[in-house]
Amino acid sequence: MAEPKENLQMEKIVSLCKRRGFIFQSSEIYGGINGFWDYGPLGAELKRNVKELWWHTMTRQRDDVAGLEATIIMSPEIWKASGHVDTFADLMRECPLTKKRVRADQVEPQSGTVIRYAGIFDCKGEESLIVNLVKEFAPAINTPQSLEDLFRKHITDADVKEMNPELFEQAKDNPGKLNALKRDIAPNYYAQSGQFKSFAVMLQAGKPVESARKLAEQYYSQKTDSFILLGESVEKIEDSINFHPESGVELTEARPFNLMFKTYVGPVESEDNVAYLRPETAQAIFAQFKNVLETSRQKVPFGIGQIGKAFRNEVTPRNYTFRSREFEQMELEFFIKPDEVIEAIHGSVATVPETGHPGEPQPNWGWQVWHQYWVEERVRFYESIGLSRETLGFHRQTSEELAHYARACVDILFKFPFSKKDADGNIAGDELEGIAARSDFDLSQHQRFSGKPMGVFDEELRAAWAKLPKEKQDDLWRRYYENRKKYLTKMARTDETPEQIQKQATDDANGLARGQYIPHVIEPSAGVDRLILALIANAYSETTKTDDKGKSETIYTMKFHPRVAPIKVGVLPLLKNKPDLVKKALEIRDLLRPWMNVYYDDGGSIGKRYARQDEAGTPFCVTIDFDTLGEKPELLDTVTIRYRDDGRQDRLKISEVRDFLLSKIR
Ligand code: ATP
Repeated sequence: MAEPKENLQMEKIVSLCKRRGFIFQSSEIYGGINGFWDYGPLGAELKRNVKELWWHTMTRQRDDVAGLEATIIMSPEIWKASGHVDTFADLMRECPLTKKRVRADQVEPQSGTVIRYAGIFDCKGEESLIVNLVKEFAPAINTPQSLEDLFRKHITDADVKEMNPELFEQAKDNPGKLNALKRDIAPNYYAQSGQFKSFAVMLQAGKPVESARKLAEQYYSQKTDSFILLGESVEKIEDSINFHPESGVELTEARPFNLMFKTYVGPVESEDNVAYLRPETAQAIFAQFKNVLETSRQKVPFGIGQIGKAFRNEVTPRNYTFRSREFEQMELEFFIKPDEVIEAIHGSVATVPETGHPGEPQPNWGWQVWHQYWVEERVRFYESIGLSRETLGFHRQTSEELAHYARACVDILFKFPFSKKDADGNIAGDELEGIAARSDFDLSQHQRFSGKPMGVFDEELRAAWAKLPKEKQDDLWRRYYENRKKYLTKMARTDETPEQIQKQATDDANGLARGQYIPHVIEPSAGVDRLILALIANAYSETTKTDDKGKSETIYTMKFHPRVAPIKVGVLPLLKNKPDLVKKALEIRDLLRPWMNVYYDDGGSIGKRYARQDEAGTPFCVTIDFDTLGEKPELLDTVTIRYRDDGRQDRLKISEVRDFLLSKIR
């Protein structure tokens, strides 16, 4: 079996992250815990900056978005309504030997030699004629039929006598009966002892067949102590996704595996007290929709944003922090009017521009323009923190990929060092964020499960509806009715009849005339940790310098955008042992500290200190030298600003430093 090729770039990034304190393995001193990561001093700052920027951009800088901070554990009813209890599952396959699971859609194709066993013959600890017979012919026995044939061919009259003297006595004078008895002994014996459950291994590179045999013995010994391996065969297999990447053992069939972490609320561990750690932050937003609407004085269209932890018991956490079991999300649910409502009020729904940002929100936007708007807004966000469009990719989900209630979903991808190349050598990237148009599914589900109305009243709709010509009313009514019926039919409980569904859809459509509807939603849902990893991968840069003596050294620079950089400025006195320089440097540190994250460093040569800040990704260093103190009078109270990315230096008045830095980091 081919070993997966190590990703050198990722290895370097992981090593720098640990060395410089961006990311550590959780519980490292106890050997770590798979799928969990801690952020060290620099990582914590980076993460905080990213979340702050998201919050600022998505809520504070907008009039139409309010924030929420909900609990991680919520009523389990929420997860029934959302569909997570029934369907939040990955199809996964298991190594039958090690019990390790992998996601069915994530097994890498492998090629190699496969040794397969058809099953075993259980000797039940005995040495018998039949056991000896099976031993002799074991490699050729690969089906129940071949075991029966073997018995029929090789069992003699004398053997029958030895195995079952009583039956032999009754049949010995009747050749027909004796033959039938012989024939029956075999299947009887097979039924007790033959177990045709196959086991196969793709050989690790350079390993002998014996190693596969050992694994097969380990596997079958879980069932019985004494057995004979049956039907060994060898075949070459190309590009198979049926073998476990580590053990090489053939995987079980795919089975669904729910990804939610379960726990109990209160002291009694009973089914009634089961609760889940939230697998996404979004559902709390739907559950609190009415409270936020009523307290924030918002009107549809408006959004609710939330940042917080989410937990998924991922089958195969991988690619460093990319797929973790505990992670953070930044989610916005942006509630909009259904297209029928827009049409009732404005006569028509705005057309969607072919590409690009549709501009400032307009009252006649339907779900398609809003969806495009949010995709473009999110791309602008990524660009504003240093991820250029070239580093991103886009994937518009196909109708097969879309959830049944979703109308569209665009994933924004980032080209990670581990992202795969397609046949033409292009890298699409891996998902950073998904922007989904989720119709009115979520609020409708919570309305049905909680029994609380999730609709809104819109005076503009009520007034407009009354003025519509009858044909227009009928047309809009019918379209709204059909959408509601489709949803209600799809999600119907087993006790709901088609008549009840039609009645409900009719009631819902009748609501339009009274100005009532359930809002639709556009959901930009981003992962904090994936974004941190993207920013780190994007910032990572190394150069090798060779000095006059031929000694080479690799220099690492983390080229973070100043907005996200963990440390904004390093404040460095030229020399540590000159009290006047140190005093001035400390004054500058204290001047900047209320405004940004400052790192004061007076240890080692100035070159070493610059290099340390480059590795931490600090975009600017301020150096206090003798000119600052007035050695050249015209330079009194000026400092050197050094730029991380090109090593350039400028001279600036101390009084200008703060505003200069703020203009760069905000
Ligand atoms: P994937 O297909 O990669 O499993 P998803 O489509 O299930 O992701 P969503 O449910 O849409 O992801 O979650 C929204 C965002 O949350 C994702 O775009 C991603 O950034 C983040 N996210 C989801 N699962 C994980 C995870 N296991 N570890 C880190 N981030 C995650």
